[in-house]
Amino acid sequence: MLIDSYDRVVDYLRVSVTERCNFRCQYCMPEKPFSWVPKENLLSFEELFEFIKVAIDEGVKKIRITGGEPLLREDLDVFIKMIYDYKPDIDLAMTTNAYLLKGAAQKLKSAGLKRLNVSIDTLKPEVAQQIAQKDVLSHVLEGVKEALKVGLKVKVNMVPMKGVNDNEIIDVLEYCKERGMTVRFIEYMENVHANKDLKGLKSEEVLDILKQKYTFYDEGFDGSSPSHYYRMDDGYRFGIIEPYEDDFCKQCNRIRLTAEGFLIPCLYFDEAMSIADAVKKGDIKTAALVLKEVVKNKPEKNRWGGEDDESSTRAFYETGG
Ligand code: SAM
Ligand code: SF4
Repeated sequence: MLIDSYDRVVDYLRVSVTERCNFRCQYCMPEKPFSWVPKENLLSFEELFEFIKVAIDEGVKKIRITGGEPLLREDLDVFIKMIYDYKPDIDLAMTTNAYLLKGAAQKLKSAGLKRLNVSIDTLKPEVAQQIAQKDVLSHVLEGVKEALKVGLKVKVNMVPMKGVNDNEIIDVLEYCKERGMTVRFIEYMENVHANKDLKGLKSEEVLDILKQKYTFYDEGFDGSSPSHYYRMDDGYRFGIIEPYEDDFCKQCNRIRLTAEGFLIPCLYFDEAMSIADAVKKGDIKTAALVLKEVVKNKPEKNRWGGEDDESSTRAFYETGG
């Protein structure tokens, strides 16, 4: 079992398989980065899998594939099947913008993927075009439909932004509710890569909008999820993620692996250690030692919103959010 210095059990690994993306979301990657990680620096699926086996053997029970846009990587279903075959009861999930999901959903499900988080910030094609800087909405919605059809469980992430999509909070919630999908509103997190003019909504502002139409009660956190949940009278549950708070750090159980092989103990901090050399050499012992070291050094909490807070320099498309 992996236990950090604050007695938290670390059993959740997020794996970014690429930093590249087919969208240019205003809050994440409004412009193509000056340089991508060279393809030769990306770990192959076999190399990522070498590390994942180590992590599973050390006690990881949940793996989320993310990016950039994970569906840009060819043969992702083969990678998912490698993980599934190694540990069929692993909680295997993925976060995607869903643009390529329609053609991939069945293969992913057959390979062993259980759950999906999909980003839907709007239901208006022109607003989707404004946010992602591409005409994406019809592909995204078709992708979600297909995922539900093949039996994947889907949660939706929405980042509410002032003057952009804040008038669609109820519409997105209702779209999700009608289809049995939980929606989570993520507070916009400032970062140096994002469009500087963006202003996100705080959780109270999102709740105030929802209160105009619904009554609901606070259910608090659910396990180690960073999402604060609320339940409506009819039983529907939605979540709010407040990254500027640090109360969810107490139950944080996650570490992140980038596509280049950097293991990151906390999204806020720049610290990371590489497992790339170790897995390339097949040196499993060293990979396990690095993993234990990273877990040991996991900070107690993030510092977003703290006195010495500076906008994070980490790109969400690099760490996978
Ligand atoms: N491309 C996939 C997608 O968009 O779902 C996976 C990667 S994306 C980096 C993962 C999540 O990070 C998405 O739900 C996205 O909305 C969220 N995200 C990206 N930048 C963000 C920001 N500045 N503030 C809050 N959430 C952000
Ligand atoms: Fe791409 Fe996801 Fe970032 Fe949007 S949020 S640019 S879809 S990685």
